[in-house]
Amino acid sequence: MYDAIIIGAGIGGLTCAAKLATRGKEVLLLEKIHHIGGTSHTFNRKGYIFPMGPLSFSFPDVVEQILEEIGFEGELKFQRNHFQLLSPDIDVIYSKEWEKFKETLQGLFKEEKDGIEMVFKELSIVIDSISKVQEWHPDYLLGKNKQRAEEQINSYQEQLEIIEKYDHLSSREFLDRYLSNESLKRLIGSQGTYLPVMSVVHLAFMWNVMSIKGIWFPSKEISGINEILHGIFEKHGGVTMLRTPVKKIFINNNQATGVETFDGKKFAADWVIANADYKKVILEMIDPKELEKNFLKSVQKTPYTGSELCVYLGIAPEKVDLKKIRTNHLFYRSVLNEESAKDFIDFANKEIEICLWSNNSLNLVPSGKKSLVLRVNMPYSHWDPWRTGEKKRKQGYREYKRELAEKLIKTVEEILPGLSEAIEVMEIATPLTYRDWGQRTKGSIAGWGRDVTKVRLNNKLLIKTPIDHLLMVGIYSVLEPFLGGFPVSMYTGSLAAEIVLTDDLNI
Ligand SMILES: Cc1cc2nc3c(=O)[nH]c(=O)nc-3n(C[C@H](O)[C@H](O)[C@H](O)COP(=O)(O)OP(=O)(O)OC[C@H]3O[C@@H](n4cnc5c(N)ncnc54)[C@H](O)[C@@H]3O)c2cc1C
Repeated sequence: MYDAIIIGAGIGGLTCAAKLATRGKEVLLLEKIHHIGGTSHTFNRKGYIFPMGPLSFSFPDVVEQILEEIGFEGELKFQRNHFQLLSPDIDVIYSKEWEKFKETLQGLFKEEKDGIEMVFKELSIVIDSISKVQEWHPDYLLGKNKQRAEEQINSYQEQLEIIEKYDHLSSREFLDRYLSNESLKRLIGSQGTYLPVMSVVHLAFMWNVMSIKGIWFPSKEISGINEILHGIFEKHGGVTMLRTPVKKIFINNNQATGVETFDGKKFAADWVIANADYKKVILEMIDPKELEKNFLKSVQKTPYTGSELCVYLGIAPEKVDLKKIRTNHLFYRSVLNEESAKDFIDFANKEIEICLWSNNSLNLVPSGKKSLVLRVNMPYSHWDPWRTGEKKRKQGYREYKRELAEKLIKTVEEILPGLSEAIEVMEIATPLTYRDWGQRTKGSIAGWGRDVTKVRLNNKLLIKTPIDHLLMVGIYSVLEPFLGGFPVSMYTGSLAAEIVLTDDLNI
């Protein structure tokens, strides 16, 4: 009998596991695949280290604080990553400090000067209201902290009213009030070239992360943080079982009591903490009879963010002209035509992320080389017919993904001349990779969907579930990744551990 079983060794599961182990709890960590780290894992191809998921993250202070709480005594340094958009009518670095970014936009769109002023003024008020939301807003807190926040809510009346007002206002409607230029609205409303769909509160979270808090790369690399946490976990007696997927969560009188793995092993525990994605846990691991129909429907109907095609390239830098990339991350779109935007392999009419990944550390590439990560949105449905089973594909899949990768590279080559000739190593991930290696429902990338009109779940924090002693951690355990992806996973891992440590669902 364990104190806690953790399903999944992603960064959320590892944080929770390490925190519990350091506080003397007996913890079993069950991971489906052959490595820890989940999507924040990196892999090596001929000396090039590539990231499966996160390229960098926000809120380094939250990451450091959680690591310290768990007993990490080493030093982490962070290097800021910047972001650039290059579209038919804009070339701008948009991760600059907030006021400077506003002035840059006013210089680029002179006829929209006053509108930009108004947008930044109003958005700044929302950003100020949400910037420390997890410290005082009852919706982002649990149990006793939530209760305390509710008691003290009068001191935050102003912020609360602002959040309520903007939570249901779509950024599209907000931007239409002040701006006329479509490209400008898309840039402010999506940090790129897509139509704005999220709520203004969500938009404020996004700009707080991008411009005010910044996005950073840690000196020990992202996968290094997985190793730190796992090292602490095992040092304190934690038990890890890799290649051990959980099939079922046992429930007795509405309380989780243990799990069964796919190879038939059964483990009992006081608490079950799931780091696998929310839909998987609720819809696949629990007998539907244990859950209310309406709750099940809300989980089914609220969409996740979509998936993507990702091409990893190890390159000889002397053969390619990289001048157009002025930051670590360039978002590039050469055509903006909404009519044909549904053709998802018309890459010219898609936003492509080009990350100069090797800029983060010399350790990521062989000496004298560089590496790029190219990413573009891709619907899972297009790839599903190629899948015949777990990690199994129809014949022709390899050739097809290579054909699309080459097409993507050709599009990127328009701004990085010589790219094709410079390639020394190439690896390709598709939505099926994110499903079968990332273990994400439909290869989803970045948590719950952003479209304010489609969200059917009410709570901002989804750590507690309707089943007692069953907690969720990781990016899907919040409705909005208010600290960005990676830190929110650590934060929820830490919060879930607090619940277990106090043995109190009301903390
Ligand atoms: C392509 C991509 C790019 C991203 N880029 C960024 C970025 O730049 N910045 C950022 O902050 N975030 C980014 N993210 C989000 C990122 O996923 C999170 O930041 C973070 O890595 C998520 O960690 P997690 O703990 O929530 O879950 P995951 O990393 O998804 O880990 C879940 C774990 O559960 C395991 N599991 C699943 N089912 C079972 C089962 N049945 N039994 C046992 N184990 C199971 C999985 O194998 C996995 O190890 C990106 C994600 C992807 C996929």
